[in-house]
Amino acid sequence: MLRWIYPGVCELCHEPSEQQLCESCVAKLPAVPLPICLYCGSSVAGEQVDPMRCSACSAAPRYFTFARSVFMTDESTRRLVHALKYHHANYLAPVMGELLNRLWEDTPQLMQSGRYCIVPVPISHRHLFVRGYNQAEELARTLAHLRRLPVCCALRRLPTGVESQTHLSAGERRRNAMRAYTAKAAYASGRRRLPGEDVVLVDDVYTTGSTAQACAKALFKLPGVRRVGVLTLLRAGGRRERI
Ligand SMILES: [Zn+2]
Ligand SMILES: [Zn+2]
Repeated sequence: MLRWIYPGVCELCHEPSEQQLCESCVAKLPAVPLPICLYCGSSVAGEQVDPMRCSACSAAPRYFTFARSVFMTDESTRRLVHALKYHHANYLAPVMGELLNRLWEDTPQLMQSGRYCIVPVPISHRHLFVRGYNQAEELARTLAHLRRLPVCCALRRLPTGVESQTHLSAGERRRNAMRAYTAKAAYASGRRRLPGEDVVLVDDVYTTGSTAQACAKALFKLPGVRRVGVLTLLRAGGRRERI
């Protein structure tokens, strides 16, 4: 609300700032503790892992090539994503896109040469109708603008009502998530092609990884896809943590 009255303040500390988030607040946000799993990017600090593969990635194969997140969830980062997602604070997308761009430059797999394109994780029509925008697409578009890369909204979210099925077991929910994301018909049929073979999937939060898994599986069915990397703003700490 303060943003509309006085636009030049930091979203977190409310001190005057040219950016939506001041550098001193950004510096206090929690990074993902090193070392991280080389596949899913979750912290493996304190775990006995070899060779840098967390227990979840050892137990089940990952469809995506790798995943990385900018911050862990804490009160501040949760507030930011809540504002972006539920309070129409899409004016935060540019600064968050900038943070994703910094993560890109810190990710060796993304500094290899390739034909990259950016794909946002889709939301359901119901959420799009209520919210008016897809927060992942807002992030994807600012990141793509900074990196001068194409954005391709090639995926869609089927209305399976996954989020209301709280009575289902974790396994059933995982299977539902796998069915919930699919390529849009034009891409699935080959009428349209992704503008790059190295796909970077963008989302706001990585929780259990099932959304990333489902999207990566759908993307790998499309012709010519070579790698699917995943970048998210936040990484939930526990597998049950909800954002
Ligand atoms: Zn601040
Ligand atoms: Zn892992």
